[in-house]
Amino acid sequence: MAAGDPHGTASHDARNRTTAVLTFASIVIILHVILLVMDKALKKYLKDGKFQNVSLTRSKQMGSVKGKGNKTTEKRLRYALVSAGITGWKVQPKHIIGNPDFIFKKEKLAIFVDGCYWHGCPKCGHVPKTRSEFWKAKIDRTKQRDKEKAMLLEEEGYIIVRFWEHELKDNLKKCMKEILILVGQENGIM
Ligand SMILES: [Zn+2]
Repeated sequence: MAAGDPHGTASHDARNRTTAVLTFASIVIILHVILLVMDKALKKYLKDGKFQNVSLTRSKQMGSVKGKGNKTTEKRLRYALVSAGITGWKVQPKHIIGNPDFIFKKEKLAIFVDGCYWHGCPKCGHVPKTRSEFWKAKIDRTKQRDKEKAMLLEEEGYIIVRFWEHELKDNLKKCMKEILILVGQENGIM
């Protein structure tokens, strides 16, 4: 950016930056429109925004699947990090774009722990037989939102790691190893 060349490289750089920002903004908008379309599709199954086409029992069942899956999975990783004496992380950090489940802010690592059910794990996820279109649409929407969150974080320079609920349950050691290598605390491996 030569001072004597105000119309040369400097303005060219600024133009490039503007183009990059605009491109990113349009991608975010497109992703958002997809979400809105998915919402509209979901609403087909909801009368007055209520789960009227879905039995109350089923609705309750699904709610508990979600809550339980997320909590235990998050707890499992949290406990493992504490036991291994790993530092520099936060669980459910506030004011971080994309709402990751864990972050290592200094190392710019964002971790998501995805419940197998709601995030549509190819290994364990299965759609309930009754009102399956509704549940499928709901799971697809979650997956779409996951993509959007990841993109926002990547734009902020974060590396993203995702673990399935079943991975943390079946092979916690492997998950921990992956995290520790990424944050340069390999010596913390149990
Ligand atoms: Zn799974």
